[in-house]
Order: sequence, then C-alpha cells, then structure tokens
Amino acid sequence: MDRQDRKRLSLFTPGPVELSPPAKRALARGVLHHRTEAFKEALVELEARLKAVFLTEHPVATLTSSGTGAMEAAVVNLFAPGEKVLVPVSGKFSSRWAEICASYGVDVCRLDLEPGQAPEPESVSRILIGEPDVAGVMLTHCETSTGSLTDVEAVCRAVRDVEERQGRRILTCIDCVTSLCIDEFRMDDWYVDCALAASQKGFLAPPGLAFLAANRDALERMEQERGPRYYFDLRRYFEDIVRSPFTPAVNLVTAVNESLESILDLGLPRIWKAYRSSAAAVRLIVESAGFRPVAVSQAGGAVAFRVDSVGAEALAAAMRERCGIVVAGGQGDLKGRILRVSTIGKGPGEIVRFAGCLASVLKHMGRSLDLDGIQADLERILEDSAVWESLR
Ligand SMILES: *Cc1c(COP(=O)(O)O)cnc(C)c1O
Repeated sequence: MDRQDRKRLSLFTPGPVELSPPAKRALARGVLHHRTEAFKEALVELEARLKAVFLTEHPVATLTSSGTGAMEAAVVNLFAPGEKVLVPVSGKFSSRWAEICASYGVDVCRLDLEPGQAPEPESVSRILIGEPDVAGVMLTHCETSTGSLTDVEAVCRAVRDVEERQGRRILTCIDCVTSLCIDEFRMDDWYVDCALAASQKGFLAPPGLAFLAANRDALERMEQERGPRYYFDLRRYFEDIVRSPFTPAVNLVTAVNESLESILDLGLPRIWKAYRSSAAAVRLIVESAGFRPVAVSQAGGAVAFRVDSVGAEALAAAMRERCGIVVAGGQGDLKGRILRVSTIGKGPGEIVRFAGCLASVLKHMGRSLDLDGIQADLERILEDSAVWESLR
C-alpha cells in the first residue's frame, strides 16, 4: 500500500470516529477568544443542544477533558471518601468506574459479570436491599469493550423502587460516552441523576470535550463536604454554565455545537433506529462468517465478536492492508480474542464495504463468508441506516 492510500484509512474504531461535515467546517475556521460575546453565544447554544440530546431539563456542564475526566468529576463531586457505591463490572469501561472510585477512597461494592453481559435490574435491587449504606450506582450504558447495552431505564426503575421502599436516596450515575446520540437515552424520564458523554463518539467530533448533566439532587450533593477537588470541582462549572472557569478547548466547542445542530436536525429517534439497524447488519455479517458476537444485548455503536480460531491481530492487519479499514482489537482479557467494529457515523455503503473486505480477507485465509447468501437480508436491514447522507 502506498502512502496516499494510507492517508485514506477509514476508521471503524469506536472513538475517535470520522468527523461530521459541520464539525470539519467548524475546525477549519480560526480560533475565537473565550471571553467574547460570540463564544458566549456558542456556549449558550451548545448547552441547549446538549440538553436536547441528554433529554433533560437540567444543566449540562462542558469540561475540557476526555470522557474519563467527566467520570472522575462525577465521582469526586458526588461521593465522599468512605461512602459506598455499587458498580456492576462487565468490561474495561465499567471497570474504570470501580478504579476511579477506589482511587478516591470511595468504597466499591462490585457486581462482577461475564464479558458481554449487562447488569439485571433484579440483581441490582437485591444488592441494594442487602447493602443499606450504598449511596450511588455507577452504570455504563454501552460497555464499549464488548458492545453490550445496559437497560438503564429498567435498572434505574429498580433503584427507584428500593429508594421508595426503604426511604433512602441512591444517586444513579451513567456513563453515556458511547450511547449518547447513538442509543435511546432519556435522562429525566428514566430518573437518572447524573449522566456524562464525550465529544469523540456519537457527537462525530474530535476528542477533547466531556459533558456532564446533573439534576437537582446531584447538584446538591456537590455542595457537601468532599475529598480534594480543583480543576474538576463541578461547582465552578455549574455556577455559570456559559462562563467556563478555565480556558476551554474553544475550537472543539464550536465543532461539537455545529455537529449537534445537524444531529438534532436529523432527529434522535431516526438516529437511534439507524444505529440499531447498522449494528444488526454488522452482527449478521460476522455471524455469517462464523464468528460469535460478544454482547447479549447489542448496543448500536459497537459490535464485538470472538475470532479465537483466526487470530484477531492477523485479521485486523489484513483488513487494514487490503482495504484500508481499521477495526479495533480487544482490551484487557479480551485482547487477541475479539475484534470490535464501530458503526458510529457509518451508512449502508460503508457497512457493505466492511462486509466485502471481511469476505475477501477471509477468502485469503482459507475461510468463507457467503455474501450472496445474506445480500437480501443485509439490504433490508440497512434500509433504516441510511441517515448520514442527509447530515450536512
Ligand atoms: C470512550 C469511552 C470513555 C471515555 O474514554 P476517554 O478516552 O477518556 O474519552 C468512557 N466510557 C466509555 C464507555 C467509552 O466508550
């Protein structure tokens, strides 16, 4: 492959993802000063759009950090050292919740699950009933390391039932980094207290910004005595949403703002449906190749599948060399055993291209993927994923 082809690698990785056209245009413009009226207007617009995608009436703070920064901010502002939280762990990102809590002396009650599984509402309520001092539940909506989707609505309803039955308050805090603008999420309707996202996944923008929405109870908790916090002291951000306490990544603010404008124009329900179709199409393709998807309940943004018999690294390298398609490998214990394909921002054309590439690479490895046999099903499934062409 020559250098020119290398430049045209297409990313099927779950973040960073290819940028939306409006994000690209915004980045091509110069830099705004962060204390100007024009920038303030961009922040006002951005917050309104963030509320529209979190589906919340509550304020949303913008932090200059990656998604993990917002996770850390949630932990240090909502819980004091010595308080206890429940963390269901089924992969790299849910495990990160547990690691951050432990780093700040917040006690973790772990619910360990197999990779690909998601926490069940019944197990969550059982633990909460047995652990009367648990003050929070940290969930990962889409566990990007396995493509597994948690039923946040059902788990939060279970938490609420325990609260009502036992007259206690348990804050729910959701990592929506790979689900916002991808899978259906409704912060207020689902009684979520705190939710966070980042710029480089469903927002189709570059990495560098994180967003944290907090309801009244979460905001109240932030006012209480806590362990040390400074840059991520969320009180500074929520005090005046349109006046960042520190120099924000101004170019990213405009990129995300304009990307979200287009995303909202398309409409979230249409986007959720498109992702469900795209993920179903990718599952059909890999299953037809004889690979087993990892997730029991499939998220829209990433499909992970076991490739034990072929060798993950060899397969990924071949796809990259032959067709310029970059897929992600497994993380932690799943390294070398699975591959992960992101559907973020991908239309039917690209998914069919992925299928063609996989078929040709497997053929060279002496295996087969019968594309003709699944063509009709694939076309039918992909009808709903054709939304990105109208993203201008
Ligand atoms: C990408 C991702 C994050 C954030 O990772 P950063 O590299 O810190 O932006 C957090 N949670 C999930 C589920 C993710 O997929």
